Amino acid sequence: MTQNSLEMVAKAPPPGGWTALIDEIYLGRWRSPVDGALSPRSVTQKIVIQESLDGAEAELLRGIGVSGDLAVVADADTWAAMGARVFAACAVAGMAPREVVLEAGPHADLETAEALASRVRGAGHVVAVGSGTVNDLCKYVTAQDGRGCSVFGTAASMDGYTSSTASMSLPSGLKVSLKAQAPTGVFLDLGVIAAAPPRMAAAGFGDCLCSSVARIDWWLSHRLLATFFKEEPYLISAENDEIMNACVADIGRGELNAVGYLVRSLTLSGLGISFTQVSNHGSMSEHQISHYIDCFAREKHPGTLHGQQVGVASLTMAALQERILTDEVAPVLKPTRMDEADMARRMGPEIGAQCAEEYRKKALSSEGAAALNEKLAEIWPSLRAECLAIAAPVEIMRARLAAAGGATTAAELGLDRDFYREAIRHAHEMRNRFSFVDIACDAGWLDEFAAEAA
Ligand SMILES: [Zn+2]
Repeated sequence: MTQNSLEMVAKAPPPGGWTALIDEIYLGRWRSPVDGALSPRSVTQKIVIQESLDGAEAELLRGIGVSGDLAVVADADTWAAMGARVFAACAVAGMAPREVVLEAGPHADLETAEALASRVRGAGHVVAVGSGTVNDLCKYVTAQDGRGCSVFGTAASMDGYTSSTASMSLPSGLKVSLKAQAPTGVFLDLGVIAAAPPRMAAAGFGDCLCSSVARIDWWLSHRLLATFFKEEPYLISAENDEIMNACVADIGRGELNAVGYLVRSLTLSGLGISFTQVSNHGSMSEHQISHYIDCFAREKHPGTLHGQQVGVASLTMAALQERILTDEVAPVLKPTRMDEADMARRMGPEIGAQCAEEYRKKALSSEGAAALNEKLAEIWPSLRAECLAIAAPVEIMRARLAAAGGATTAAELGLDRDFYREAIRHAHEMRNRFSFVDIACDAGWLDEFAAEAA
């Protein structure tokens, strides 16, 4: 489709409704064109996305088997945005909801999860009203005892509504993805979501922007190291991503239909995990930079959201990939130089040792580097062409992120520039997912690249 016709499409809801295609996927009716297999049936029984769900809240919960006995969990902000409304609707409908309001800006950590667990003890079902943190806490807490949970989303800020994992901080400060459970019901009221503070949708767009960057990193790993790769997460998102990219300025303005397409992209991205059971399709080098910021910025953390950081990091990693892919000659790698003392100094001894263990799994010995160099030289012309076919030009990505209202540099995030450079330089040490940033590191020019970042 041309840009003009995509813009026209983005002005109205999808012909089959907001959950067209989404329904097919989570209900296990979507057939993969790659191998003909049906999509896995999710534990999520119902996903509803509509212009308004006002007045339908109790009926939606009854529809997924929730009886009267439930806790409605929100933080101070999301209680005002929608929690009070969900609570009142349940009470009017003769249910016996329990009100659980967390203090503003709750953290997804084990201590907060424990406190929440005691506040929802005895409730038969837990309803999260919120986005990232509230949803993650409820999914995690209920997964411990097998109770059901559901969510009324209040912002298009991240892609985790449908996922069965929760992003949680351990007591050491290390942020990890822990096993939780997918919600039984996911209810997204576009009117509420479009009225959320603009930085929320900008963050959601940033979380989507990483798609091509993560795909290139994951494809590299697949072709070079023969790690597993699946096309389906990208196949299900491709058409909607195109429409969403055609209406970024309307996302920035909080226009309902544009935010609806963003919500669809986020939901489809979350459902991508059901094909792979891992987050690789939407979480590679760029997500690791955001995690590094969340784990180690401490008092320098500007309070920005995950997706805002991912947006900026996606631009940085796209530029790094572009630099490597411009070269017709394959990169040449040296053995990985791990500096564990420096890792311990930056990360603290405990996390430093944990990360060193992860990093060691992908670190190259002399023989390992020689073998990869041979493989790179052999596959480079085809690998390079495959990656270039996926890549989006960095300047177009930057313009889209800015139009959606997202920060495009560390300075715009309010993040200390030197700390951001440290994150570019060292984030890949945290996780055993080989990507183009490992190529830059082992080729010996990552220091220089990080030092140029704005
Ligand atoms: Zn993300």
